[in-house]
Amino acid sequence: MYIIKRYGTTGKDAAAVDVYKMLDEIIKVDNDIQRLDRLVSMEIREEFERIDNIRLINQAKVLSAMREERLSESHFSGTTGYGYGDTGREITDRIYARVFGSEDALVRVQMISGTHALATCFRGILRPGDTVLSVTGKPYDTLEEVLGIRGNAPGNLKEFGVDFRQVNLKNGRIDREGIRERLDDGIKLVFMQRSTGYDWRPALSIEDIKKTVKYIKGLKKNLIFMVDNCYGEFLEEVEPAAVGVDIAAGSLIKNPGGGIVPMGGYIVGTKELVEQSAAALTAPGLGRKAGATLGITRSFLQGLFLAPHVVAEAVKGAVYASRIFERLGFEVSPSYKDKRSDIIQSIKFDTKEQLLCFCRGIQKGAPVDSYVTPYPWEMPGYGHQVVMAAGAFIQGSSIELSADAPIKEPYYGYLQGGLTWDHLRLGVLITLQQMKEESHIKVDI
Ligand SMILES: *Cc1c(COP(=O)(O)O)cnc(C)c1O
Repeated sequence: MYIIKRYGTTGKDAAAVDVYKMLDEIIKVDNDIQRLDRLVSMEIREEFERIDNIRLINQAKVLSAMREERLSESHFSGTTGYGYGDTGREITDRIYARVFGSEDALVRVQMISGTHALATCFRGILRPGDTVLSVTGKPYDTLEEVLGIRGNAPGNLKEFGVDFRQVNLKNGRIDREGIRERLDDGIKLVFMQRSTGYDWRPALSIEDIKKTVKYIKGLKKNLIFMVDNCYGEFLEEVEPAAVGVDIAAGSLIKNPGGGIVPMGGYIVGTKELVEQSAAALTAPGLGRKAGATLGITRSFLQGLFLAPHVVAEAVKGAVYASRIFERLGFEVSPSYKDKRSDIIQSIKFDTKEQLLCFCRGIQKGAPVDSYVTPYPWEMPGYGHQVVMAAGAFIQGSSIELSADAPIKEPYYGYLQGGLTWDHLRLGVLITLQQMKEESHIKVDI
């Protein structure tokens, strides 16, 4: 049970009161929660300015990439079959390369998810006898199976003679000492995960990535630096490839798809590594030259065009959620004033019931499937039960408002996405109302 102190609020204006009255009629937000919302919305104003500046820079980058490449209507027509000579596909790759500050890019509907994009990089680059060193500890759950460090899924990299080692983060930060000790000759690829994933730590900032690459390059030459960029796109002014990372990948149903891309993945990096990955995606010899776009190019590029804005909306909602749950007495990561490098907001709950109620609330606030109740299940690729609240237009899209949590102690809930900041705000308000009604929170402000 959480009780928050009474804080004075200022700037009460008549217009705001009417809005709340109407909101209460439409979605039911009681007086306590209204007061909390009003207070928190004022507290986070400064953060919003910061977010808007990053958004503007990224929007400018996307716009100039499209102008410089002379994007035109003719690129949207798409191909079928082999997809040879698809100029829309080719220009999408070039636009991504410009936006991500990389030499080359591969953006494909044939990559079914972020995991697939990342696995494609590993399979393209690594050869028997090579070792991957993760310097951000355990990689994302689904990659454990790809690498063969958990389970024995057929075709995992271990079967192909690729070894994996990890240096854990130390107090949530890169452990330089640990890296120096473990950096031997067998290592070919240094791996970093930018986002928190299912973890309680700050996301790796671009500055952290830049310094880590520089530090490791000072110790050993000829290493390949790879970043799992999922959830990190457009959180900062530059992307990993612009600060010395050789290859990075992510999902198009997360940040860079802007919420409208129905499926796909992307890889950005050096020409050589992107070519190698393309060979692993299709077939050696075919590489990037084939792969029909089936008319999806318009949505890929329109999604990328919207992405800086949509990401900013999601980040605003994350900041809001962070402060509101902090005000309710929960531990949160990051805090609302922290610099962010991914869209995830972690909230620590005391009990499983509280966590499940939170997820039910988020589900209730979704535009799609708002009437269903999320239950924990054994999701493929994850080592434990997971509960997911998602009522998205695109299945599994986590740039849309969603919450998930592994069912294990401590009960961390992860909130992410939201195509509009208003939706996130409403989703959180609906959730708080639900949690209050079930006596999981007590609002006294
Ligand atoms: C989502 C995610 C992945 C995997 O992406 P899918 O599209 O779900 O396969 C990998 N790494 C991180 C950090 C992620 O957030």
